[in-house]
Parts: sequence; C-alpha cells; structure tokens
Amino acid sequence: MNPHERENRFSMTPREIFERLDRFVIGQERAKRVVALGAYNHFKRIAVSQGEASLLKKSNVLLIGPTGCGKTHLARNLAESLNLPFVVVDATEYTEAGYYGKDVEVMIAELLYACNQNIQECERGIIFIDEIDKIARRSGGMRTGAGARDIGGEGVQQGLLKLLEGRRVFVPLNVTQHWNKHDFVEVDTSNILFICAGTFTDVQVYENAPIGFENRENAAKTKRGVGHKQLLEYGMIAELLGRLPVVVQLDELSREDLVRILVEPPDSLVREYSQLLACDDVRADFRLDGLEAMAEYAIKRDVGARGLRTIMEETMHEVMFDAPEISGRRIVVDRAFVEGKVSGLDSKNLDP
Ligand code: ADP
Repeated sequence: MNPHERENRFSMTPREIFERLDRFVIGQERAKRVVALGAYNHFKRIAVSQGEASLLKKSNVLLIGPTGCGKTHLARNLAESLNLPFVVVDATEYTEAGYYGKDVEVMIAELLYACNQNIQECERGIIFIDEIDKIARRSGGMRTGAGARDIGGEGVQQGLLKLLEGRRVFVPLNVTQHWNKHDFVEVDTSNILFICAGTFTDVQVYENAPIGFENRENAAKTKRGVGHKQLLEYGMIAELLGRLPVVVQLDELSREDLVRILVEPPDSLVREYSQLLACDDVRADFRLDGLEAMAEYAIKRDVGARGLRTIMEETMHEVMFDAPEISGRRIVVDRAFVEGKVSGLDSKNLDP
C-alpha cells in the first residue's frame, strides 16, 4: 500500500497517534503506545468489517492506575486526535436492568447526545467508563472492606457484555425523560471503542504484600504485575475481561512529571495563568522551585495531577485579584511564595 492509499484508509499511523498524544499527555509512555496501537487496530477492524466478517477482535481497553495519573486525559486526547465523539461515564451510576438507576444502554444514549443524535457518528465513537473496579463482584477472592462495592456490580458487568462485544441495542433518544416505544433508536455498538478505567486499589495492596511495605518506588514496580488472575480475584468477571483485550497500567506521576505537566502541554496551567496576568500587564515569573512546591503539595495530598489546577488557583488567587492595580509589575512565584499560599488548602478537598 503506498502512503497515499494508507492515508485514505486510516488517517493516522500508530506513531502519529502516539506523537499527538505525547504533546498533551506527560509520561505514561507505555500507555500512550498501547492506546495508540489499540485505536489504530480498531480502525483496521472497521475497514475490514465493511467487507466480510472479520477475524479481528475489538480492541477495547482497560486502563489501571492511581487517581489523577491521566487515564481520562489520555482517552479524551485520543478521541480528540482522531476526531471521534467521546463521553465519560461512571460505572457506579449504572444498575442491573430492572433496578432503580441507569440501564447500561443509557451510556450509548449519552454518546448519541454528544454527537447531536447522529447515529452514524455515534457508532464510531469512544465511551470512557470510569470506576470500573467499583462494579467488581462482592463475593469470592480477595475482599477488603465489605460494603464498599456496588450491590449490582456483577449484574452491571453482565449488562456491559452486550455493549462491549458489539451487539445492536435499542437506546432511548432522550436520556432525561420518561420514554415510550417511539423514543428508541437502534445503535450498532460493534465499532464503538470502550475504554474502561479503574484504580483497583485493593489489587495493588494485594500485590504489595508483605504488609507494611511502604516504599513507594518499589510499590510502583510491584504494581506492574497486575494481570488477568488478580483482576478475576478482585471480582471482575471473566467474560468482561475477555472483551477488554488491551490492558495497560499507568504509573503514579512523579514530582518531575507533575512539574512538566504544569509547564509543557500547549494548554498548560503555567501558560494559562501567565496569559491571564499578561492581560493586566503583570508578568508572572514561575521559578522551578515554586513549581516543585506545587507538585510536592499534590503528592502530599495524593491527588496526582488532578489537584494541580486548584493548587495553582490558590497560589495565584490574590495576585489575580490585585492584577489591575499592580499593572507593569513582575511577580516571582518561587517555593516560599507557593508554600505561603497552599497551606490554605490543607483542610479542603482537592478533587474537583
Ligand atoms: P484519572 O482519570 O487518572 O483519575 P485525569 O485524567 O482525570 O486522571 O487527570 C486529571 C487532570 O490532570 C487532567 O484533566 C489533566 O489536566 C491532568 N493530567 C493528569 N495526568 C496527566 C498527564 N499524564 N499529562 C498531562 N496532564 C495530566
């Protein structure tokens, strides 16, 4: 196939998808590669299945990693790179059919809504299912903290099977109202890519035995071993895991990663806040030790990159408020400056 033909069939190569992701997602090299290839294979599968029955299996993905390490961010950027419709749903909001709560078909309806009820668009979109670990089965295997999991867990996993394996389902056109039979449309889920994500915290605890094992660096290395067996023991059903052939673990972000996240992406917080202040002709001079202090605070509060916006907002709040009156000045944001401000967050929840 010459490059031109290739371009027409699959608009980006795995490397091109990776490079695009790399601009926005810091670290997580393996996850970026695996997801880029998964998406590329997904397009191959769509191309092949337009002809005859395909041997190529759906490359739905399972992302495992701590809070705020970029699971949602990676999936969202993948959808944006490929120009595909995208929704984020929370597995804990769904219940087994017949119980009070959302049926799993509602997630397809949400995707449909995100692409203005265009069924064709919807049928090639990406659904990100967060907190998949919270619908683990409650009995059997390693269990900690009874009552911590959703009662309908196994039923929801069963419900998801039909979506993940790619059946045609009837979905309500309007997710907010009561329905009658005319309000349903048929959607083929075979080309919808599902990316599931969870922290699987207990698996990590289990993997990190012996108990009392506290060294973070070693702990991170041990976590890499989470495999099919541990996920089954955790309470994920085999059929569901079978439909999530691409499993990848994301790393906990280091202080250096968090500093890079503050600075490097095209839409980074440092760029954003510098620009906001520049509108009032105030120059923000972000020093490395100041950025390190922000990163260290995020680590201390165990929020990963998720807390960085709140930390930056708290750090810069006063300066932003005063900006019109201090026009023409330069503000040095160093460690002392940051530490003086972020202590105000000690009693607050950093998870937006
Ligand atoms: P998770 O889904 O793993 O809990 P998110 O993807 O929601 O975490 O991360 C929260 C925010 O932190 C994102 O919106 C993004 O701005 C930032 N972020 C997280 N991880 C990264 C990363 N690896 N690179 C760049 N930004 C990141």
